[in-house]
Amino acid sequence: MATYGKIIYLCSAFCETMNVLDTYNIAWKGLGFGFHRFQYRIDGAFFKAFDGGIVDDGAIDVMAELELASGVMALRLVMTGTVRLACNRCLELYDQPVESTNRLIIKFGDGLEDDLDVVWISPDDDYIKIAKPIYDFIVLAVPMRQVHPDPADCNPEMIKKLELLSVRESPAQENNSAWEVLEKIREQINF
Ligand SMILES: [Zn+2]
Repeated sequence: MATYGKIIYLCSAFCETMNVLDTYNIAWKGLGFGFHRFQYRIDGAFFKAFDGGIVDDGAIDVMAELELASGVMALRLVMTGTVRLACNRCLELYDQPVESTNRLIIKFGDGLEDDLDVVWISPDDDYIKIAKPIYDFIVLAVPMRQVHPDPADCNPEMIKKLELLSVRESPAQENNSAWEVLEKIREQINF
């Protein structure tokens, strides 16, 4: 983690155009046939590079295994860690455990075919860029229901406020837009 911070510092000081996602480029040319393993630890800087995505913070260990054989290029991604999300029950941030194992095929071409399990590269490319597939599979691993795994970790005061609000608002709520409801919640909790 400390090394990562240093990279970002050097980047902002000396090479503004350097992208943090370039860390996840695999130089595949010159690798022999067989399996090649790469380990990464991704953190908030990685997620923030995908500006506006549904996940913007987390800590995940990634094992990327590149398989090179005659006529076959494949990548296995094994990821485990946590992403930081807002709890649907109490609105506070919590760390959601996520796990994901996927096998992708690397193909040469222009990438017009939209398939999550394929990474497209040009034969001229020196690197296989795996940051986007890593991000996509993490997002897919996020559960639909996002709540503290242990309900005891929820903020009881916030739940009480939200419950009070829903009781008070329920008779007229049908006519309220989602935006109006959100505004009332914000007033209640003094954002
Ligand atoms: Zn909660």
